[in-house]
Amino acid sequence: MSARESYRTTGFVLRALSYGESDLIITFYSSELGKFKGIAKGAKRSKKRFANVFEPFSLTNIIYTRKSRDMLAFIESCEIIDHYDAVRRDLEKTLIASYFIDLTDHFSPEGKRNEKIFELLQTFLALLCTQKASDAMVRFFEMRLLKAAGFEPSLDQCIICKTPVTNGNAYYFHAQEGGIKCAGCAEPQRHDQSISAGTVRTLLLGKEMDTDKIKLIALSDSLALESRNVLVGFISHILSREVKSLKVMEQVRKLCL
Ligand SMILES: [Zn+2]
Repeated sequence: MSARESYRTTGFVLRALSYGESDLIITFYSSELGKFKGIAKGAKRSKKRFANVFEPFSLTNIIYTRKSRDMLAFIESCEIIDHYDAVRRDLEKTLIASYFIDLTDHFSPEGKRNEKIFELLQTFLALLCTQKASDAMVRFFEMRLLKAAGFEPSLDQCIICKTPVTNGNAYYFHAQEGGIKCAGCAEPQRHDQSISAGTVRTLLLGKEMDTDKIKLIALSDSLALESRNVLVGFISHILSREVKSLKVMEQVRKLCL
């Protein structure tokens, strides 16, 4: 008899790393545990025990044992709840899902529970299954993830004079200060990132709106580019790095469109 108690949790697979000849180290994002790592002994050999479960963004039921919270869990069994086949059949959607998973990974410290992030992943993966991939979907995921992770950019008013955003006015986004400044306060330099009131309003709307309605939002080319540059620039600033899967996703999306 095993002296250790088994636990059960639900989690998305963030990534799987080959370890030794036959084992895999899996990083999950669980509703109860946040990001956590476990070792699946013999996973590369035992196809029966762990058939296809460790593919990125699969939602799984995990049974594990663990000596203490800061130790690697031992994965006893893992079953697929949702494999998101409709996403996997479509290259563009697969790359978007991979980007969502990468962002979640980068913004999540290990062992910190955040149910909002778990729900966000669940909602947007389900959305990707049923709706056409769009710029709005990607940008609104970024907005919501930033908010859930505690890095929401300040977009509803100028961070200096506190004047609310007004249509037709020019604004500048300052990643280091995490918000926008009006033209009067910004003293814009050449490299400053300009952002129109329309882009600001769209991002604010996307942060809160009912996800079923996202399909109704089509971003114009200029709005798509501006919101992409502001959010991707802000995310790189916070993480002090570029998110690799973003580039792959963008290159392939260009080819698909
Ligand atoms: Zn101002």
